[in-house]
This record gives sequence, C-alpha cells and structure tokens, in this order.
Amino acid sequence: MNGPAPAAPGAFISSLESCFALPLNEITSIVRSFHEEMDRGLSGQSSSLKMLPSFVDVPRGTEKGSFLALDLGGTNVRVLAVELDGRRNATVPAVSTFAVPPGDMEGTGAALFDFIARCIDSFLTEHTIDRNNLYDLAFTFSFPVAQKDIASGALIAWTKGFTARGVQGEDVAGLLRTALKRNSISCINVTALTNDTVGTLAAGSYLDPACDMGVILGTGTNGCYREKSSNIKILNGYVSDEYMIVNLEWGNFATLKRTGYDMHLDEASVNEGSMFLEKMVSGMYLGEMTRLVLIDMIQRELIFLNDPDATEHFSTKNSLKTEHMSLIQGDQTTELSKTDRYLKSMGVTSSTLPDRLLLSHLCGIVSSRAAAISAAVVSAVLTWLDPALEERHTVAVDGALFEGYAGFEAAMTETFTLLHGNNADNIKLMKCKDGSGRGAAIVAAVTASKQ
Ligand code: ADP
Ligand code: MG
Repeated sequence: MNGPAPAAPGAFISSLESCFALPLNEITSIVRSFHEEMDRGLSGQSSSLKMLPSFVDVPRGTEKGSFLALDLGGTNVRVLAVELDGRRNATVPAVSTFAVPPGDMEGTGAALFDFIARCIDSFLTEHTIDRNNLYDLAFTFSFPVAQKDIASGALIAWTKGFTARGVQGEDVAGLLRTALKRNSISCINVTALTNDTVGTLAAGSYLDPACDMGVILGTGTNGCYREKSSNIKILNGYVSDEYMIVNLEWGNFATLKRTGYDMHLDEASVNEGSMFLEKMVSGMYLGEMTRLVLIDMIQRELIFLNDPDATEHFSTKNSLKTEHMSLIQGDQTTELSKTDRYLKSMGVTSSTLPDRLLLSHLCGIVSSRAAAISAAVVSAVLTWLDPALEERHTVAVDGALFEGYAGFEAAMTETFTLLHGNNADNIKLMKCKDGSGRGAAIVAAVTASKQ
C-alpha cells in the first residue's frame, strides 16, 4: 500500500494527516476545476460532471394536494404519503422504510423492481390505504438518469454498489410501472421521476424560498441547483421555464488528490475508475476507508499490540461502518468506553486507552477530509451562482451521514469560513430529513399543476 512509512504512531499519524489534509490552496483549486467541469458538462463536452437536466424548476410554495412518493436510496426504500397545504407545509401522514436486500441490488432488474413493488404493497396494507382510488406517485431514483421529460428517464450507470442486470439504458419509471402491473397493484399512477437531490431541493425551497441547492450526504453524495435554462446547451433549445434544476452527479468528480488507500478502495469496488469524490466522502465508503488505514496501522504494529488477532477482526470488507466512526468520534466518556464496547463487539477484547484515542483520531482524519470536500463542492456551486457570495443561500441537505455524523456539519462550516470569511454566514445548511421523498411529491404537484 502507498501509505506513509514511519514507525512510531505519532510520526505515522502526522504523515497520515498530511496525506488527507486539504489546505486552502487545494480547496480553491477544487472549486476552480469544479467550475470548469460544470461549464463543460452544461455545454455537452466530456466532463466528470454529467449536469443532468431535471425537467422541473423549484415549486412556488402554493402547490396543494395528496401524493405518494417512493424513494429508492442506496440503502433503503421509503414509501411516503405526502400532504401539501399550499402554504409551504409538506406533512407526511404515513411512511414505511424497507432495507434493500443486498441480493436484489446485485440480481436481475426484475427482482429489484418486484421488491420495490412489494414495498409499495406493504405500505398500502400497513396504512390501510383504499386501493379503489388512484394515487399519483413520484419516484425518487437516486442514480444518474438521462431524462427527456419529467415522467421517464434511462439509467446511465449504477452507482453505490448496485449492479442489477437489465436496467442500464432502460426507462426506470417504465420498469416500475411494469413491476406494479406484474404485482397486481393498479391504484398507482407514476407521474414523475426525480433524482433525490432534486427532491431535496424541491422540499427545501417549498419551505424556504432562499433555498437554491439540494445536497445528499447519505449512502452516496450528490448535489443539484437552479440553472438558467438558456445556459443548459444540452437541452437543445427545449422550451421550458426560465430556470431548471440541474443534477450535477458530483459523486463522479475526479480532480482530487487521492491517497494509496483511495486507490485501494477503488480497485476493490464494483465500479472501479469512477465516482472518486463519492468514494472519498459518502457513508457507503468512509467506514471502509478507515478500515483500510486501520489494517495498515495494525500491520505496522502501531495499534492493538495486545491483540495478536487484530488484523483478522477487521479483515472483512465493509465490516467497519460509517455509523461506527460516528459513534467512536462522538464518544465523550473519559475511558472511551463506548468505543471499547464497539471494539469488543468486533473481537478486540484488550484495547488500551491510547489505542482507542488513536482510532478516534483516525476517524477524525477520514471524516474531516470528507466534510472539507463536501463543503468545497457546495461552495463551488454557490459561487457559480453568486461569485462573491453576496446573497443568502439556503442549502437543503438530506442523508443519514449529514444527519447522524457528530461534527460533520461543523467541519463543513469551518471550510466555508476558510474559503469565504464573513460571507460564509450567507450559507445556511438546512437539514431536510426525508427531503428526497417529500420533495418528490412536491415535484409531482408541480407537474400536475402544469397539466
Ligand atoms: P440512502 O442513501 O439510502 O437514502 P441514508 O440517507 O439513510 O440512505 O444513508 C445511509 C448511509 O448513511 C449509510 O451508508 C450509513 O453508513 C450512513 N449512516 C447512517 N447512520 C449514520 C450515522 N449515525 N453516522 C454516519 N453515517 C451514518
Ligand atoms: Mg436518500
């Protein structure tokens, strides 16, 4: 592995810190190349940013009605009923969450969509929803999709560990309609297809008109923003509203300084050579990144010296979860006893306090870089819209990483201040739990109001 080479933990850690550090000049250079890639993507040149048009603009806040929403994230499927009161309130009277079985992520597309149809079926039963009515459903699909209108779109490529066969290149809204039919669910009309970032922005701006960006920090990471339709050359003159939401697909941004651990993680992934930013930032990968460094530290005899089997306890890929990092970094007990409990559950029964402090420090190094990169790309989008950050911008953020990782938001704010000084106060991060699902219903409402 290409990691640092010194022998004592102190020297190793400082070398690790400098490998993972993002000083101001590097953050500024990320922002600059991000702008170049945005520009190339919008004009249809080859770019690591797909800049996908969503065929919808933000809501006015006056949209009303009852809708269903289906949110396929990277980890869970959520089915929601959403009520919009026309006065910026979107309430969720019913919601059910289902974990996507790993077998269905990697099997056939038909099996995956049958699983989703069964989730809808369970939701209807659980909440005793009358199947004699017809419900408009918005489908949030958290993968890159090429849309030509609001109700359909073809999967460009799977991300986040999904490989289900026979879906790439197909219309995913169509696959859902077929699966609903196959499972005899006739009370659902799929009226809108939307990305999770777009849903999050819709939900954020329904609540707060200053919201002009949607961000996901969950299993994966991505962002979207409002662009002038006339700047979106790839629309080929498609006539629409003055503005349209553009899904950046920023998980694939590649101009980043990568360490040997990043390369190792990428090589072992199902989508080698792509999604470099996502692999450095998101919930699916941070735990694994930490595990790779930890294994290196164990093998260099810098940690867990009391446990001759330490390598084996962490030898399984993905066995260290991002939630565990969050628990370790958030452990306020003097002896780090929560961390000790976690380590015991992994089989490390004799860790010392310095071991646990070292592990906590390692989690901090990996998560701080993730937060700094996230903040850099949020800043890049906001300065694309408003170069000196003179206006107030609300950024709606959904995803369990942002919501659950102690200190992640604070670390992002530090980077905003580093980049923008006092003007960083103009950036407001707004937690938008289930925004991707609620917002899809809002997108369905915007669509319905135009028909
Ligand atoms: P999805 O991406 O499927 O919409 P979520 O937004 O719930 O789902 O994100 C799930 C991801 O968030 C998982 O990768 C998980 O590791 C991570 N995660 C969940 N809880 C936490 C937490 N408390 N701290 C950090 N990461 C978390
Ligand atoms: Mg999600």
